[in-house]
Amino acid sequence: MEFKELGLSDPVLKAIDEAGYKEPTPIQAQAIPVILMTRDVLGIAQTGTGKTASFTLPMIDILAGGRAKARMPRSLILSPTRELAAQISENFEKYGKYNKLTQALIVGGTSMDEQIRNLDRGVDVLIATPGRLLDLFERGKILLADIKILVIDEADRMLDMGFIPDLEKIVSILPPIRQTLFFSATMPPPIKKLADKYLSNPKTITVSAPSSTAENVEQFLVAVPHFRKKPDAFYKLYKKEDVKNAFIFCNRKRDINDVCRFMKGKGIKAAPLHGDMDQSERTKTLGSFKAGEIDILVCSDVAARGLDVPAMSHVFNWDVPNHPEDYVHRIGRTGRAGATGRAFTLTVPNDAKVLGIIQKLIGKQIEMLDLGLGHAPPPPKEDATRPPPALRQRERRHNRAEKQNRRHRHIDDMDVDLDEKKGGDKDGGAFGDDVPAFLRR
Ligand code: ADP
Ligand code: MG
Repeated sequence: MEFKELGLSDPVLKAIDEAGYKEPTPIQAQAIPVILMTRDVLGIAQTGTGKTASFTLPMIDILAGGRAKARMPRSLILSPTRELAAQISENFEKYGKYNKLTQALIVGGTSMDEQIRNLDRGVDVLIATPGRLLDLFERGKILLADIKILVIDEADRMLDMGFIPDLEKIVSILPPIRQTLFFSATMPPPIKKLADKYLSNPKTITVSAPSSTAENVEQFLVAVPHFRKKPDAFYKLYKKEDVKNAFIFCNRKRDINDVCRFMKGKGIKAAPLHGDMDQSERTKTLGSFKAGEIDILVCSDVAARGLDVPAMSHVFNWDVPNHPEDYVHRIGRTGRAGATGRAFTLTVPNDAKVLGIIQKLIGKQIEMLDLGLGHAPPPPKEDATRPPPALRQRERRHNRAEKQNRRHRHIDDMDVDLDEKKGGDKDGGAFGDDVPAFLRR
């Protein structure tokens, strides 16, 4: 299949050619002709399969005809994070270079005034995160009555981040007669329900089974007897592996900086990426990583979601993710576009249950590596090894915070670890302040 068989215009084909793409990916080959016919599309494909171009390319041609009025954008793309929104915007720049379409990016964390000025000029393509868009709408700065195409990208992540109510609100103010394109890597029941509600007679395109892990990723578990041994385990692994560039995922945002500090102490070029960093810092960090000035990004699930960083050699899970679906997303960061990748997950004895669910989800046993770090202590006998009451209380407090955390994950546009917001770990702990947080638990 070639791009020129899909019905795209010459200016778009020329831009694709210059981008160096030889042939469409499966989702592009299937979605583009259908979108050009102005049909609704439900696209289910794992990360790295080229979903972005599958909607930006035909949209450029559909929008090429008309002209936007001030404050009334003609198309709307909703994206869960600022980084993803920025990547979509770059896609429109790159593929739309021979078309004169205007676009605006409406995301949290940057100046609202400038975004409003852009809107006043009239935009063909509006790319937004849900929170900021509603904010502007409620202030009367934007009219959504002229939206002809709606794209919901990374719908499953919107769900994880608690954006569904915002999404519902936004869709309720859009004109009912429009083209809707809906993309997601996975299709949990609430997402299926939304898709049924928003799409009319859609063409469903499924590129790989939901929740399947990339076949070209070799996966390993690394048994660590105690969480305090994680730095040792990681470093041992790091020296053995030929790591060119990698993501390290931590479950808790407060561990990210500590892990980075540990890396730097070992002379590894690492940098953090999480929701507490301001937008310019994050953009800069991502730029340095893409340019190869930083080898390892230590990040949270939300900060990393969907970021397009080609050819990553490794993914390390500092922690087993709490949500099994996140495992699939994390390891999907390597082994993209035909390259092979390696994914390692550090596990402590407590992880057994979640690991069981993960292995069930991906439908296979993950191979266990023994780095010779010693064996896990035997399971505690009743009372003998019970922590003292004060520690137990801390543990309970922590568990409560985690539960809360899960309940209202992410109100803002980016990751907000609620246990941090609530000051759950502010007490330095039994080890004092000079000990990294990941040793303090
Ligand atoms: P997804 O949204 O499915 O996670 P992206 O749209 O971010 O995937 O694309 C992943 C990567 O694949 C990007 O680096 C993109 O430039 C590249 N890519 C997309 N389409 C093609 C193509 N037809 N040929 C080669 N590379 C492509
Ligand atoms: Mg994407």
